[in-house]
Amino acid sequence: MAYSGGEVGEQNLGWTAEDEAGIVAENRRGFVAAVGGGDGFELVTVRQFHSGMVRRVERGDGALSTAEGKAVLRGDGLMTRERGMMLGVQTADCVPVLIADTRTKAVAAFHAGWRGTLARIVERGVGTMRLEFGSKPKDLVAAIGPSIGACCFAVGEEVRSQFESQFGYAGELFSEVFDTDTVREKYPMLFLTARAPGHSNLGPQIHMDLWEANRRQLVDAGLKASAISVVGECSACARLKNGRRKYFSHRAEQGYTGRMLSVIGVVGS
Ligand SMILES: [Zn+2]
Repeated sequence: MAYSGGEVGEQNLGWTAEDEAGIVAENRRGFVAAVGGGDGFELVTVRQFHSGMVRRVERGDGALSTAEGKAVLRGDGLMTRERGMMLGVQTADCVPVLIADTRTKAVAAFHAGWRGTLARIVERGVGTMRLEFGSKPKDLVAAIGPSIGACCFAVGEEVRSQFESQFGYAGELFSEVFDTDTVREKYPMLFLTARAPGHSNLGPQIHMDLWEANRRQLVDAGLKASAISVVGECSACARLKNGRRKYFSHRAEQGYTGRMLSVIGVVGS
C-alpha cells in the first residue's frame, strides 16, 4: 500500500525499498494462490539486473528463494520443464515476455528492458529452450505483456545508436516525436523537473518501440507471427483506470512505484 497513499488493493508484488516486506510477502502469496488456483505452485523469481542471462530451474534445486520468498539467483530470464513451478518476472515499464512450448510443456519468462532487449535476451532465450528442451519454434506461443509503449518511451540518442549498431531493422524501432504541447511551450518551467534525462523541448524526442523489438526477436527466433500476442497496453499512460491504479510505471512515477509480476507455469506435479 506504499504507493497509493494507503489505498487498499494496490498489490505491489516487488520487494521495493519503500514497501514493507511482510505486506509484499502476503500480496505474493495471495497472487500465487489466485493465479495457481490452489495447485501449490512454487513461485520462482530472479534478482534482475538488465542482462541477457537466463536460468534453467528445476524443482528440488533448493535455495531458489529465501524463506521469505526473495530470489536467490541473478538473471533476467527463467525456464523450466517442471510442472508446478511458476516462473515470474517483475516489471514496472520493462517488457515481460512469456513463452510456452505446447509440445514439450516447457515454459520461460523474460525481463526485457532496453538493455535486455539490446542483449537479445528473448531471441537467445528461445535458442536456449531449443538446446535445453529440444523445443521447436513452431510449437512455441508467446505473450508480450503490459509495459511502456512507444507513446511514452523517450530515450537518448545513445540508445538508438546502440541498436543501430546491432540490428538491421533498428530504423523500424525508433520514431521522432515533435513536442507540440502548447501548455509545455507556454509554461516550460512547469515541466523542467518532471521530465526524464534526455528529454528536451528543443528538437524531436526519440521514442522506442520495445514491443516491436521483442516481437521481432521472437519472429527471428522462428516463432510464427500468429503465435505471438502483444497486449499492447502502456504501463505509463494507461497506469490508471477510472482513477485507480492498474499498472506500476517507473517512468510515470519517477521511480517511486511498486512492481507487477508476470508469471507462467504448467499445472500439476
Ligand atoms: Zn504510453
